[in-house]
Amino acid sequence: MVEEFQDRIGRLSRAADLSGREVLLVSHLPDIRWASGFTGSNACLLVTPSGHLLITDGRYKEQVRSECPGLEAHIVSGPLEVAAAAVITERQLDRVFLQQSRVTWGTAENLRSACDGQVELVARDPLVHLRAVKSDEEVRAIRKALTITEQVFEQTLPLLKEGITEQEIAAEIDHRHRLLGASGPAFDTIVAFSEHAALPHARPGNRPLKRGDVVLMDFGGVVEGYHSDMTRTVTFGRSDKLFLEAYEAVRSALLSATEAARAGMTGEHLDGVARQVLTEHGFGSAFTHSLGHGVGLEIHESPSVSSRNSDPLPAGSIITLEPGVYLPGDFGIRIENMARLNADGNTILNASSTELIRL
Ligand code: ZN
Ligand code: ZN
Repeated sequence: MVEEFQDRIGRLSRAADLSGREVLLVSHLPDIRWASGFTGSNACLLVTPSGHLLITDGRYKEQVRSECPGLEAHIVSGPLEVAAAAVITERQLDRVFLQQSRVTWGTAENLRSACDGQVELVARDPLVHLRAVKSDEEVRAIRKALTITEQVFEQTLPLLKEGITEQEIAAEIDHRHRLLGASGPAFDTIVAFSEHAALPHARPGNRPLKRGDVVLMDFGGVVEGYHSDMTRTVTFGRSDKLFLEAYEAVRSALLSATEAARAGMTGEHLDGVARQVLTEHGFGSAFTHSLGHGVGLEIHESPSVSSRNSDPLPAGSIITLEPGVYLPGDFGIRIENMARLNADGNTILNASSTELIRL
């Protein structure tokens, strides 16, 4: 793994395109983890043309040594940006690239004043694009997380009995992820019955399951920092025409998107493929969110698979495909798979079927 991190930090340095007196200050923890392997909760990473440096506090003295062998580390007390300013001043660097969507105004101001104003702050963040492309090592971790999630799904289906609540099912899903080896859930697990499922981000509550319900479950786990993300909607007795039509519409939107998804097409284009299918089935206006998102060290990361992304989706990225239909007051349906994009198409990482499960 050491070589993998050396390679990543080298690529980061080249992507930042630093000249002699410039430095990239990485402050977002998942980015620091990606570039160095450090998993602590307080750090910043300085990438300079003459070498790289991690700054953290005393709690992580041992951890930084074991996680980042070969990386220069400074253990400090007090604000990290003040410690970073000392290094910047000492090395006579005068242009600092900050991650514009990750740094607070206060941190930037502290940094500027700790450098006595002798520094130019510039917005530049090459990490968003670098992290979108997953290495084999990253794919392995994501696959492992998703395998656990699919096992959890299999174990959860028999628990769906009359009277069990959304909250109880969600607790079982979280607990089983840990038992099977995940470090925890990938996000707040969604379990929503019928009318609750019509809210795309419903929170599990005390609603008991009853005959005739629709059950939407959106869940995932974390392995080695990497996330899985999967949704299945099953029926607990509901089988009327509207529900079955909506399910088939969502499933064919997913299948069409799966057939179309490949690197080089834009997020907007791929989102449009699924949206078009739902529109043809009469459910276009009931699909109220975007088709998907990148997944990795964070549950939502680049690239976005939405009508707002006119950039090409990169080869090697891992995205979700998650069309849905939401009918307020009645039910919601979402089916979500994960796919790895390549130039010719994609590989679906899920093994479990998307055919309707009737309980
Ligand atoms: Zn999800
Ligand atoms: Zn998702």
